Amino acid sequence: MGKSFSDRIKRISYGGDYNPEQWPKEVWAEDMKLFREAGIDTVTLNVFSWAALQKADYEYDFSKLDEIMEYVRENGLKVILATSTAAHPAWMASAHPDILRVNYYGQKRKFGARHNSCPNSPTFLKFAPRLAGKLAERYAKYENLIAWHISNEYNSVCYCKNCEAAFRDWLKEKYGTIEEVNRAWCTSFWSHTFYDFDEIVVPNKLTEETSRFETCFQGISLDYRRFLSDSMLHECALEAAEIKKYTPDVPVTTNFMHFFKDLDYRKWADVLDFTSWDSYPFFDEDRADVSMWHDYMRSLKGGQPMLLMEQTPNVTNWQKYNFIRRPGVVRLWSWRSVAHGADGVLFFQLRRSQGAMEKMHGAVIDHVGLGTTRSFKELAVTGREFEALGDTLLGARTDASAAIIFDYDNMWASEYCCGPSRDPEYKSYRNEVMRFYKALNALNISTEVIAEEDDFDKYRLLIAPIMYMVKPGVRERIERFVENGGTFVASAFSGIVNETDLVYLGGYPGPLKKVLGIWVEEIDCLPPEEKNSFVYGGKRYEAKQYFDIISSLDPTCRPLAAYEHDFYAGKPAVTKNDFGKGFAYYVATRSSDDFYFDFLSYIAKEAGVRPVYEAVPGLEVTERHNENGRFTFFLNHNDDSLEITLPAAGRALLSGENAAKGDKVVLEPKGVFILQESAK
Ligand SMILES: [Zn+2]
Repeated sequence: MGKSFSDRIKRISYGGDYNPEQWPKEVWAEDMKLFREAGIDTVTLNVFSWAALQKADYEYDFSKLDEIMEYVRENGLKVILATSTAAHPAWMASAHPDILRVNYYGQKRKFGARHNSCPNSPTFLKFAPRLAGKLAERYAKYENLIAWHISNEYNSVCYCKNCEAAFRDWLKEKYGTIEEVNRAWCTSFWSHTFYDFDEIVVPNKLTEETSRFETCFQGISLDYRRFLSDSMLHECALEAAEIKKYTPDVPVTTNFMHFFKDLDYRKWADVLDFTSWDSYPFFDEDRADVSMWHDYMRSLKGGQPMLLMEQTPNVTNWQKYNFIRRPGVVRLWSWRSVAHGADGVLFFQLRRSQGAMEKMHGAVIDHVGLGTTRSFKELAVTGREFEALGDTLLGARTDASAAIIFDYDNMWASEYCCGPSRDPEYKSYRNEVMRFYKALNALNISTEVIAEEDDFDKYRLLIAPIMYMVKPGVRERIERFVENGGTFVASAFSGIVNETDLVYLGGYPGPLKKVLGIWVEEIDCLPPEEKNSFVYGGKRYEAKQYFDIISSLDPTCRPLAAYEHDFYAGKPAVTKNDFGKGFAYYVATRSSDDFYFDFLSYIAKEAGVRPVYEAVPGLEVTERHNENGRFTFFLNHNDDSLEITLPAAGRALLSGENAAKGDKVVLEPKGVFILQESAK
């Protein structure tokens, strides 16, 4: 493992993707002047330059990149160097067609687009790591090289012959025998029994699947998802290994994407030194969505600071409606990244390109080329704030006593499951996780986002939305967690299958029956207009979508709320089981935001989970701490100003003024206030 990203920098990194190769040198000089004005200290170079760097099988040309690397070093900039392997050159596709992917419909692609390489192509597996190694060898001596950026936004799913052969090998490695594959996938159903691994073909539109999210054969589709994620990870690991030969102390990352479904980022984090991601929320996206992904990225490396690799400085160009970030929003969102654990905030892109796909995508320097635009001036304010703080915040961590499980295997499997619904809104694992996370976020409770494999024992509150798949060992670890005094929450449609999607017999929720103290006999699913209701804590809430019908409770378990309508009126909708020193709750249906807020507010208090600050609509409050003190971030997402009362004495980090406990501070619309309490 290399040094951490935070160890390589002296201040919060600020900058982004920079493409000087698209511009004459006089423009470079203008860029440097504007970067200084905006407090920009970091450039990401070489993201899509493979065609320029490699002109034939064994012919490389680094002259242009040499010139750029020298130029930015002379100008005092830090560099995050990309390996350029996210799009192969046209000549390579002509000379070695195995690098071209086969798409979901079984069509062999020709050269074009990006993410265009098959992850199991011998050509790709030879030339991509080789290029990464050559770059590392050549630029190892640059002391301003702060990180490696492998490829870009990995997402090359493929269904070619090479992938099919590699999938069979992956299955042999995993299951050993074809009999074990048949057992794991339940192939006696629909006459699917295989007698030889060579009979297994990739699951796509030509075979088992009606869409990428619906399949006739869950076992194979689930394993192919795992296999494709592993295939891309294997290639990424080869590049990382080449890089480490020459620059063992320069940390490597690749930029993840928001709720991206094809890669199990939990597994990927193990081969990276730090995590980074790209945030491009849609106009109507809930703000908690972005906060959760920040928390997830931080949690993936055990709370180590992460990097926001990309966001737009003002506008995107690829969404249906590309809205301008309103005044104050980019600064607020940049600080939100830091508030959730980022030690760097970068943009795509620094100068707006003149042609092709992303010419209308926002940039720090717009087509007009001036530093006097509204957007530039706001960006410069944030850059100078980061500059002025130096290393004060670097390496700061967040203590979280609450965790929510976001597990890729569980997401893939629960969404592939045929039933209880085919409505994508109902099936959405993300939506169910967000029902709970949004309440934690509104309550200003510091939260980690973890997988089923992670350690539960360091938390007081553990939430497992739709724990449909319970992997080996998880039951025991949850039981131990609750026995020792933890509070566990699960929601409807949990405890259904094992790791290969075979149902646990003996009643739902399978391995979670004991800790939850319940037996779910039937699961009802009704159209959106068919609502039920329940009363919890003296208040009536709606029940919708899924309705688990709990027909018996252990003596230690009691109902906290009951359905009010239909033939199961009176059956529990929410239960609480005493188990050892802790409690296990079950929410048997789905409800509205106010229920999750009230419910988690109560049980967090009972579990001894303390919010960072009281809940105020539109106000997000988080905490980080390091040797320089404890930092409380107050973020006003509202369009109106807001008054806060300081919970402790300290210093206003951005103004440097002293602050007393109980002082009132007015936050402007989209305003940010950071309280620094000195280190104890
Ligand atoms: Zn392939």
